[in-house]
Amino acid sequence: MLIHIRNIEAYAPDPQGHTDILVAGGRIAHLGSLSPEGLPGLKVIDGRGLLAFPGFIDGHVHILGGGGEGGYASRTPELMFSEAVVAGVTSIVGCLGTDGITRNLASLIAKARGLEEEGISTWIFTGSYGVPILTATGSVESDLLLIDKILGVGEVAVSDHRSSQPTHEELCRLVAESRRGGMLSGKAGLVNFHLGDGAKGLAPLRRILEETEIPASQLLPTHLNRNPLLLSEGAAYARAGGLIDLTTSAPPPEAGSRQIPASRALKMLLDEGVPADRITMTSDGQGSLPEYDSSGRYAGMGVGKVRSLFDAFREAVRGEGIPLPTALLPFTSNPARILKLRGKGRIQAGQDADLILVDRASLELHTVIAKGCILMSDGNLKARGTFERASMTRELEA
Ligand code: ZN
Repeated sequence: MLIHIRNIEAYAPDPQGHTDILVAGGRIAHLGSLSPEGLPGLKVIDGRGLLAFPGFIDGHVHILGGGGEGGYASRTPELMFSEAVVAGVTSIVGCLGTDGITRNLASLIAKARGLEEEGISTWIFTGSYGVPILTATGSVESDLLLIDKILGVGEVAVSDHRSSQPTHEELCRLVAESRRGGMLSGKAGLVNFHLGDGAKGLAPLRRILEETEIPASQLLPTHLNRNPLLLSEGAAYARAGGLIDLTTSAPPPEAGSRQIPASRALKMLLDEGVPADRITMTSDGQGSLPEYDSSGRYAGMGVGKVRSLFDAFREAVRGEGIPLPTALLPFTSNPARILKLRGKGRIQAGQDADLILVDRASLELHTVIAKGCILMSDGNLKARGTFERASMTRELEA
């Protein structure tokens, strides 16, 4: 598909001013003024009143479903393709969670491939909460070397009552093996750590960095905004060179959660002098979230939404006043660089044509383009997943 986005204010995420963007063959072919009128099949999008950003990257989604901690009936459903589109998410890293038995890597790989066929870009982490890791091919290193979709390990639980209580030596070996597999396969090879509310906090990660030669770029701890203490520990960890990830889907405060909204946490980290390029945000989408009624009574199980990622971005800009080029980093170029997603996270000639266009005033999604295909136009879904299409046809006929 050939697309000419005309006269749009683009953030790459650094500001590009008003420019034209030409999309051809799934890539950004040109950034800068141009007049390609007359090309056969050219679709023109008028960029007036809109802003262009790189498609968002969500590096921690339970695409296969997660949960299950309240018994079998609490297992959460799979991600539907359109749930990514309405969040402006064009790249996803899928992971297992607490349950690595009834959810497994073969299914996770198949689900990631399905989403890729439906129209976005996907990768996965090997393993789940527990250590030793349950792998697809026998070892972390061979998973990284033999399976293109696998770019690292995760989410491995530490400082949590649900973790396998891994020893320091087990964690060192795991991180080392993942790093080696990453080097040999040209991938990130990092370990995505689930941080719980446990008192140990980030101590297990700091000890790995203190007692081995492993660089901090191999560790990506997530859920750092789950309580104020962990967030301030995360700020110190990141100032010292570590990478940290904030979670945008949140249990309600009535659930006893002390989670700080990700947009607020981002502002606090920046105010405390954490370099903006060390922070990423992910949705934890399709994870289970207990829901409570207005009087605080348990009302049932809900599901984390990938859409919370985009809402956190809007809140970071509109609510917290973080400038656009900085607010975009945790959703675009930071995860692309940290996860080594080539062709992703920037608007630049030669990059994949993963773009979102938003209304300048409301910052609401207007258009979503992934790999050069238009998935949303003027706020309307133009593409859905395999099992969402029938209902879409009915809606169009109605
Ligand atoms: Zn987690």
